[in-house]
Amino acid sequence: MPYFDSHCHFDPAAPASAEPLLAAAAEAGVTRLAAIGGDPAMNGCVLDLARKHPERVVCALGFDRDQAELADGKLDFGRLREQAEDPACRALGEIGLDYHYAPETAHRQRALFEKMLALALDLRRPVVVHSREADADTLLLLLDFVTAWRRDLILSARPPAVLHCYTGGPAFADALLELGLVISFSGILTFRNAAPLRELAARLPLDRLLIETDSPYLAPIPYRGTPNQPAYVVRVAETLADLRPEPLPAIADATFANAAAFFAPSR
Ligand SMILES: [Zn+2]
Repeated sequence: MPYFDSHCHFDPAAPASAEPLLAAAAEAGVTRLAAIGGDPAMNGCVLDLARKHPERVVCALGFDRDQAELADGKLDFGRLREQAEDPACRALGEIGLDYHYAPETAHRQRALFEKMLALALDLRRPVVVHSREADADTLLLLLDFVTAWRRDLILSARPPAVLHCYTGGPAFADALLELGLVISFSGILTFRNAAPLRELAARLPLDRLLIETDSPYLAPIPYRGTPNQPAYVVRVAETLADLRPEPLPAIADATFANAAAFFAPSR
């Protein structure tokens, strides 16, 4: 039964460390994964990895909210565009807003997010979005993006964005689904204090769900306290199977197909 980890990170300072993680993932049945960038070092690292393992790894490239702290002119958008034109890059990300850790840069975060969304439209790539304590602004900016996405006949058949590592409430999830997004759940689903999130994950339409590890962060129970890795996405699928009417094979198949469609090559 194959699984697709739709969101994981690798250490750009030790790119060789990805190989044993890929091997462990394959052993666990996690045959495909999306390696996610966010700054120049991570972008280079995941693009190399995706080029090296084209049958197993795709990547997303972008400048995340932390890059909004950099002074103007410090971000090389030309280089990012060049890298993102590579066929191994299937989405822009992760991008988005985090008002929890860096509320003082909110204005700059929004400007950078808008710029990334414009680039995604230009390159015809969907986006991998992070949103923490920024639901209203995230929705507002995504609305413009989705409206433009829908105007393109070929693009409009595909989801424009995934909200990754979902931790928001039911109203935000419903608004995202209404916009045509897909939603990705992480190992947070297994945490003891995540009962409201489990309730939500139990009722959302299966054809709009992805699963992810967000590794090396957020290891699911029973691996908490150790580094997370793509192999552990199986725990997220098992948790969904416990919550929902569908058995594990149906959860694995559907989330695999949804991720494969989301990260399909752009035409
Ligand atoms: Zn991430």
